[in-house]
Amino acid sequence: MLLVVHVLLVAAAVRTPAAHAWGKEGHYMVCKIAESFLTKKASAAVKDLLPGWAGGDLAETCSWPDTQRFRYKWSSPLHFADSPGDCKFDYAKDASEHMLSLLVWLGKQGTATTGTERGTYDRSESLMFLAHFVGDVHQPLHCGHTDDLGGNTIIVHWYRRKSNLHHVWDVNVIETAMKNFYNNDVSTMIQAIQRNITDVWSNEEKQWETCRIRTKTCADKYAEESSKLACKAYEGVQQDSILKDDYFFAALPVVQKRIAQGGVRLAAILNKIFSGNSRLQSS
Ligand SMILES: [Zn+2]
Repeated sequence: MLLVVHVLLVAAAVRTPAAHAWGKEGHYMVCKIAESFLTKKASAAVKDLLPGWAGGDLAETCSWPDTQRFRYKWSSPLHFADSPGDCKFDYAKDASEHMLSLLVWLGKQGTATTGTERGTYDRSESLMFLAHFVGDVHQPLHCGHTDDLGGNTIIVHWYRRKSNLHHVWDVNVIETAMKNFYNNDVSTMIQAIQRNITDVWSNEEKQWETCRIRTKTCADKYAEESSKLACKAYEGVQQDSILKDDYFFAALPVVQKRIAQGGVRLAAILNKIFSGNSRLQSS
């Protein structure tokens, strides 16, 4: 299923601006929220690194790594950190270490290409991978169970449409929310999430930013949170389950908060790399 999804991705979503493609909205929102919290210095550094086709907008590039899984085969397993279905999280060693190497590399000056054991890429690509992986690790089902490929093999009905549990969390919840509450407009949904960050979640938000663990991105802390949320997401769901309002209204606040956390944390990481301090630009 993963493969099928990603073949479609490569075919359909290479570059569609406000697309309705696979998981694109989620990544777009994480990056848009991050952009709104960047310091001037970090924002300028990010713009400098973006490829021309991004039009100066980080968010436009945030699904790019999903289109590169075949070109950069090493990157494929780094999009998720599944663990056996015991609701305990295994340290996401690969994903964590890779994020750290991206960080180190991004912090270096110059535009030369780096060669690492995982492949060869430049700083522009490092930035896009980092922004994408910070998003992915916040999607609960990217830290789901190994034996069902993070919910990919659990076929469900999302209201009347056939889907799978992974896709429900990647796409369906966001799509349904956009349709029902946000006039099918991604920027309206982003604004709603941003309002929550400064309002409902303002007390927690400070803690989201801090990262005092040895791995500088705190990737395994985020993955651990996701795997706990994934445990709940699996509850009561079986092959052929029909998921509708009950499930939707339980999942939506989780999805919105994970997008918010992903955005805030990505901003903190980029601010730290490019302006030496993880403090967010208060808007
Ligand atoms: Zn991904």
